[in-house]
Amino acid sequence: MASEISTEEKIVSGTASVLLPLALPKPYDYKVPAGMEVRAGDYVIVPLGPQELLGVVWGEGTGEVGHNRLRPVAEVLDAPPMPAVLRRFVDWVASYTVSPPGSVLRLAIRAPGALEPQRMRTAYRLGDERPARMTPARTRAVEVAGDGFARTVRELAEEAGVSDSVVRGLVDAGTLLPVDIPTEVPFDDPNPAAPGVDLSPEQRDAAALLRAHVDAEKFSAVLLDGVTGSGKTEVYFEAVAAALKQKKQVLILLPEIALTSQFLERFERRFGCRPAEWHSDLSTRERRRVWRGVAEGRAPVVVGARSALFLPFPDLGLIVVDEEHDAAFKQEDGVAYHARDMAVVRASLGQFPIILSSATPSLETAVNAEQGRYAEVRLEARHGKAQLPDVTAIDMRADPPERGRWLSPVLVKEIAKALEAGEQSMLFLNRRGYAPLTLCRTCGHRIECPQCSAWLVEHRFRRELACHHCGYTAPVPKACPSCGAEDALVACGPGVERIAEEVVEIFPEARVAVVSSDNLRGPAAHEEVFRAIEAREVDIVIGTQIVAKGHHFPWLTLVGVVDADLGLENGDLRAGERTFQLLQQVAGRAGRAERPGRVFLQSFMPEHGVMRALVSGRRDEFLQREAAARERVGLPPFGRLVGVVVSAPDASLAQKIAREMSRRVPRTDEVSVLGPAPAPLALLRGRTRLRFLVKAGRNVNIQSFIRAWLEDMKIPNAARVTVDVDPYSFM
Ligand code: ADP
Ligand code: ZN
Repeated sequence: MASEISTEEKIVSGTASVLLPLALPKPYDYKVPAGMEVRAGDYVIVPLGPQELLGVVWGEGTGEVGHNRLRPVAEVLDAPPMPAVLRRFVDWVASYTVSPPGSVLRLAIRAPGALEPQRMRTAYRLGDERPARMTPARTRAVEVAGDGFARTVRELAEEAGVSDSVVRGLVDAGTLLPVDIPTEVPFDDPNPAAPGVDLSPEQRDAAALLRAHVDAEKFSAVLLDGVTGSGKTEVYFEAVAAALKQKKQVLILLPEIALTSQFLERFERRFGCRPAEWHSDLSTRERRRVWRGVAEGRAPVVVGARSALFLPFPDLGLIVVDEEHDAAFKQEDGVAYHARDMAVVRASLGQFPIILSSATPSLETAVNAEQGRYAEVRLEARHGKAQLPDVTAIDMRADPPERGRWLSPVLVKEIAKALEAGEQSMLFLNRRGYAPLTLCRTCGHRIECPQCSAWLVEHRFRRELACHHCGYTAPVPKACPSCGAEDALVACGPGVERIAEEVVEIFPEARVAVVSSDNLRGPAAHEEVFRAIEAREVDIVIGTQIVAKGHHFPWLTLVGVVDADLGLENGDLRAGERTFQLLQQVAGRAGRAERPGRVFLQSFMPEHGVMRALVSGRRDEFLQREAAARERVGLPPFGRLVGVVVSAPDASLAQKIAREMSRRVPRTDEVSVLGPAPAPLALLRGRTRLRFLVKAGRNVNIQSFIRAWLEDMKIPNAARVTVDVDPYSFM
């Protein structure tokens, strides 16, 4: 695959334009020295000031600078050139997100060492010479090596059951010949012809439709919309198989948190081997191996988090975005991009299909499907005997918990029933720690982070207060830091640790596990707790959103949502949609096997549209209402939004810049600029933040407006202006 692509690339003569992975406005020209062959896409080393930097040849030089004043390309690295489609994608993402192209390029070359030659090791294979003197040990070694495979001294000695020196003797005698072999583990080939599970008629129809999209070998976007447990994964695996049969590469994007060994094992069960993985926890070595394997077309399938989108696939034929509604696909730092949206762009540039899979599609995707831009495949039934859980709202005004408690007697009774039946319960609360606020009873002081406008969260297990925005921690004080009153501090509101305390009090016999990112450090700890839950070593799971996604717990029949109203508190435009998605996902954990599931939502507003939609299961109506409400006021996806945040270490500088920006807003009736106003997180890591919100109609090129606006702004080094196109966070 790789070689086909390389020959396509044009030789660049004279001057080359080279993009550097830096926040520069455009590529720079370099001279191609005589005798050096440089192609578009080549990875090169070029001088910049006193440094030498890695860059990528973007094309022919622009000729803006006279040839004799250009500095030469220092070196061309030995790697397949960056495919033209990826270069176009980098430019596209840069333009869409209003970022320097070099900042996007950095996402595509984040694999240290991938461009250096691979380390080799020496192995030996059998030659034609035989030693003059044969011993039984030598004969055994020669027999083993007779299969023609190359092995290291150690491997051959072990397999033949002889000592290393016997093997070395054969090397000295010229019987075994040295060969260099790569140190890296090769990639296995998934077998697309292996039989999958027996699909139900509904699943079979869905799979056939997806396969048809793959076989069309052109761009299309398909929403695979099926309730949790309906077999969406099994169904899209059929599309993966179809792409593999065409010898194309496949990318499956998952939210980082869902990238578990459970998923990889499922893939292995279907295709006979593990896919390549790409996420933030990979070792440098593994990053190198996967990046290189992808570039050379040796890695057929990559399962990865959002950054996998920037891997240098020479021959991608299908992308699947699983849990497409998940907000984790939105990258907020640096280049602010939404991986689902950019994946659609990547598929369109590469002219192949993309499948967006979800039980609770985002409003954006649902509207695209409704308006016919995306095709749609539905799975209405859960697989096998599993039924969708029964959802009930508990009105917390009518059935309040006892004083100082958080669980309604209605929910407590249900947990007791599940315990008695030997079934598992899960209590969901999307709040880490013990209590979100510590308050002084005497003076009313609230303990805040010194660097952020946010309360400190009490973590009782660790005996500290922590800021969830900047990581600041402090011991829990004995006296109020404001008025000095002793023993006057009270914890307000619950986090998962506090719910665990209550559960242990009520059910002292029950085996309880708290699942949140605080008590589980690293993937191994995650695997262990999920294994324990699957093995029924836990009766009551208390968790944050970590437990909401993707996991299949056959014995879990009861889900209690401790505070269903929580996500509705912040007024952001997707609050309703996201609360619905999250709670629907959580609810979907219940009753995934034979035993039916029950879900209870503790709410102070059971009449709210989100609660009613969850209880009635009328998702489509809910989405239509949300869509209509957004359409009325021109919010996404019916209009465009861009967030622009100015931050600086001192408030006066931030204000000065914001005032200057206000003065420079280009005049047009098509775009409105709101603000500057203090951001909800007005102070973050000690920096003052002011926010503009730019709003325009769907057909307005909001990016050129932003570029024109910010083009000539001089931003002092201490300050920063960040642009977030299609923002998901309004903090
Ligand atoms: P979803 O992704 O829609 O939540 P999954 O693909 O995870 O659903 O399927 C839920 C469970 O049902 C999984 O354990 C899966 O292996 C199983 N399953 C789904 N369809 C079938 C089938 N046709 N035959 C056997 N098992 C199936
Ligand atoms: Zn902080």
